[in-house]
Amino acid sequence: MRRAFCLSDQPERSTLFAITMRMTRLLTKTTKNVPAEADSANAKYLLQGGFVRQEAAGIYSWLPLGLRVLRHVENIIREEMDALGGQEILMPGLQPKEPWQITGRWETVDVLFKVPSQTGKEYALGPTHEEIVTPLVGSFIRSYNDLPVAVYQIQSKYRDELRAKSGVLRGREFGMKDLYSFHKTQEDLEQFYQKALAAYLTVFKRCGLDAKVTEASGGSFTKKFSHEFQVVTPAGEDLIFACPSCTFAQNSEIATVTEGEACPSCGSNVELVKGIEAGNIFDLGSKFSEVFNVEFTDEDGERKTVLMGCYGIGVTRLVGTIVEALHDESGIMWPKSVAPYQVHLVSLMGKDDATRERVMDASESLYSDLTSEGITVLWDDRPDVSPGAKFADADLLGMPLRLVISEKSLKEDSVEWKLRSSKEAKLVPVADALEDVKSFIAEN
Ligand SMILES: [Zn+2]
Repeated sequence: MRRAFCLSDQPERSTLFAITMRMTRLLTKTTKNVPAEADSANAKYLLQGGFVRQEAAGIYSWLPLGLRVLRHVENIIREEMDALGGQEILMPGLQPKEPWQITGRWETVDVLFKVPSQTGKEYALGPTHEEIVTPLVGSFIRSYNDLPVAVYQIQSKYRDELRAKSGVLRGREFGMKDLYSFHKTQEDLEQFYQKALAAYLTVFKRCGLDAKVTEASGGSFTKKFSHEFQVVTPAGEDLIFACPSCTFAQNSEIATVTEGEACPSCGSNVELVKGIEAGNIFDLGSKFSEVFNVEFTDEDGERKTVLMGCYGIGVTRLVGTIVEALHDESGIMWPKSVAPYQVHLVSLMGKDDATRERVMDASESLYSDLTSEGITVLWDDRPDVSPGAKFADADLLGMPLRLVISEKSLKEDSVEWKLRSSKEAKLVPVADALEDVKSFIAEN
């Protein structure tokens, strides 16, 4: 039976469009060519899979499949920042020069993009937002009753890098989540800081990553502190001493332990590994609030300077980090939580029209069942592509579950079931396929 044959043939049904995609309709195509500029796994696979397009060094367009991953990552971050009490705002990328002159960073930040206007004024393309957020939040703070408060945004940032490299790990334009917190006491700041640290670990875990927390340079030697979140992978740029058994880690620049020594937390032997910095958090103290005179009246009627913390995660960088940490020689292995689609349905058409029609009917039926349960499906319905090429694309694109409908599987009234993370395929009866997929998606 041809159920819901025209689901994605009806452009006005946009909610259905959002959860399914036929590869015959997909804007992008995969390519076997490794782009010359692909110097890392994330650059290679994201470009080959058509997740992103490089417009210039360090500048990317996000295409349908890549944007779905990015949105999933952003939503995980948004949920955790909301749970932390953060209020989402959106500040401008194009920033006035004056606050940058007030902090002195117009001259000292070497990666600052400076944009002249025909009016004679100059602007900055923001690499960060302390110059905007400090006076912004400050304008609403009167007394201790207004504190603590935290705001965040997910937005494009700009850095005038001399050399952009490593795919989406280090771009000239990149997506960032930056949260800023405002407090009346150091104690309150430190409490929030620890909660933010825990929320960050949750974000990385939900993205399928094992992140270590390291104290960043200067951290333990000053009153101020800062931490980096390092995802352990051979592609990392930073050397860290990490414990394989617990979360203990130190950046090699400031380490107090060395390779082979006992972990101060659990006693296991510390290893020297490479990590990708996926996030960082800072105790800013009164550095920016003093400059912008952000004060409040405390319980005794005394005027005091607000204390600040800032907390960043590079969201486009995080997509690249996921690829670096979760891939094999054939392509990407997206975790379910961020995959563009949960299921990659592959139809192998067979040689004659009758087989082809049976395969298409069975595929459409399953596609419709999955869709009606809200399961997201990328359907390889391409008529003229060989099985080998379809499987290679499925591995490259990296959906967590591949279902194949072919003449062979239909002889057994079955669907071939294969996880991206496994080499083994098995047959599942067509009648059980929907329930099995639902269970798979519900698993953690
Ligand atoms: Zn340990």
